[in-house]
Amino acid sequence: MKNIAVMGSTGSIGTQTLEIIRKHRDELSAVALTANSSIDEIEAQAREFMPKVVAMYDKDSAEELSRRLADTGITVLSGMDGLMEAATISEADIVLTAMVGMIGIRPTIAAIKAGKDIALANKETLVCAGHIIMPLIKEHGVSLYPVDSEHSAIFQSLHGEDKEAVERIILTASGGPFRTKTYEELCTMKAEDALKHPNWSMGRKITIDSATLVNKGLEVMEACHLFGVGLDDIEVVIHPQSIIHSAVLYRDGAIMAQMGCPDMKLPIQYALFYPKRPYLDVKRVDLVELSSMTFERPDPERFKGFKYAYEAARAGGSMPTVYNAANERAVALFLDGKISFTDIARLIKCAMDTVTTVPDPSVDEILEAERSAVAAVDANVI
Ligand code: NDP
Ligand code: MG
Repeated sequence: MKNIAVMGSTGSIGTQTLEIIRKHRDELSAVALTANSSIDEIEAQAREFMPKVVAMYDKDSAEELSRRLADTGITVLSGMDGLMEAATISEADIVLTAMVGMIGIRPTIAAIKAGKDIALANKETLVCAGHIIMPLIKEHGVSLYPVDSEHSAIFQSLHGEDKEAVERIILTASGGPFRTKTYEELCTMKAEDALKHPNWSMGRKITIDSATLVNKGLEVMEACHLFGVGLDDIEVVIHPQSIIHSAVLYRDGAIMAQMGCPDMKLPIQYALFYPKRPYLDVKRVDLVELSSMTFERPDPERFKGFKYAYEAARAGGSMPTVYNAANERAVALFLDGKISFTDIARLIKCAMDTVTTVPDPSVDEILEAERSAVAAVDANVI
């Protein structure tokens, strides 16, 4: 039996994780569930999965949930302390981190220190704190399984291979809903347009990140940490059909790629069952029906947020945090209708140009860089 703490259980990844657990009741169990404030959803999940603890970041939601779950014997926790406790409960073998944004940093670090394996969806955590997390993973002898589809595809393409023989990583991107738009057209795009992703159904924040290609910038940084490679060892290729989820090119010219219909249940299940591959009821790729796959280079001039990711990664230190935190803030403003689509990249750049960064930041310095980046974004909203 594998016991799982599902962090962000009410979200897109969280609910799909629970679907996998539901199908494998004899092998998997959810021992902790967490969310921010979605009380109705988490109450239903708690009653179905009967975890040991449930944690809500929002304190009022936790109080209300505690009343509602009084008959169940489930412990309800709240705030950051509650998330940390949920991530470290003794019953958990593996912590699946699917909360959105930098809020994931401290619970993830706490889980590793408590000896838990990590199934990582929360890429913002690695982008900001990869230099802390990767050495901790080694130090505590735990495993880190990528859930992000591209990183899972790379992980699968590396399986059983000689790491020394890797020439480069090929990270694919769908290109998002605005792949063919001109820069002038991008300026006028609204949240409802950006939320219509052509291939994937995901949470709101990552869907906007996919439209700006900031998601791909974050994923390049995530891949550097996960696979111990440099920026120049990764080639980003736009592949609008999202069938090849990423690939590895070896020095003999062989490319090993993982293909499949776009469905996050596959990488989630792979992370939970690695290296086993139980049956999974997802659509199969019919190669003849698919008939063709196309590839193109990303355009960093139209998608400036993608270009700035490389600048942030090259600067290093707390600059990736500034990039990420500015993006989180700008995306929230865009979803609220307060800024335009192209303002997202502009505001990221404003923050990167104004916030003072430090090398090798501690967790406190990362959180300080986050506050400064948010302030820089707010100061530059027109
Ligand atoms: P969603 O927005 O669908 O879900 C986010 C989850 O995080 C919810 O459970 C939400 O709770 C919780 N949450 C939000 N804010 C807080 C907070 N302050 N404290 C505690 N919990 C919080 O996101 P996704 O599932 O789409 O994405 C989750 C992570 O996985 C992101 O880092 C994303 O980049 C990554 N990812 C997602 C993919 C996808 O297909 N969706 C693919 C690859 C990576 P509540 O419901 O209460 O708000
Ligand atoms: Mg991805």
